[in-house]
Amino acid sequence: MKGNGNGCPWRRDALACVLAASLAGLFAAAALPSGSGAVWAGQASCPPTAADAEGPFYVPNAPVRSVIGRGLVVMGTVRSAGSCTPIPGARLEWWQANPGGQYDDAHRATQAADGEGRYRLETSVPGLYPGRPVHLHAMVSAPGHRTLTTQLYPKPGQTEISFDFVLRPQ
Ligand code: FE
Repeated sequence: MKGNGNGCPWRRDALACVLAASLAGLFAAAALPSGSGAVWAGQASCPPTAADAEGPFYVPNAPVRSVIGRGLVVMGTVRSAGSCTPIPGARLEWWQANPGGQYDDAHRATQAADGEGRYRLETSVPGLYPGRPVHLHAMVSAPGHRTLTTQLYPKPGQTEISFDFVLRPQ
């Protein structure tokens, strides 16, 4: 039997086949580990980063800085959904627990992405606090885009996270 180019040679209904292929793509994306946002960079579509809870510890106007600890580097590009275009100067705000599991002002930062939308934060692996997996909070904003509040989840032993934040145009 001849295939139809969508990997569904057994299906007579072309639409059903396309839908099945699309769903398979969605599930493949959902199965990607956290921190893999950079894989979208070279793709035609650029889905917005999923929001995640702000939690009770956000404090605005953290100092502008790129180093708030040692042992974990987070880097990537801030992009606009759909076009995937980098957003120069996008604002990133970070907050997280210190290695002892407490939120403190030393582990807050504000950054501006560079002229190509890139950012880099050097920090510590957050300590555990009850009821949550290890996580960092981020709030990313840019003119013409909806502000994104989300979290990143380092895996045990992970020292580098490469992650592109993708914002929804307004
Ligand atoms: Fe938290």
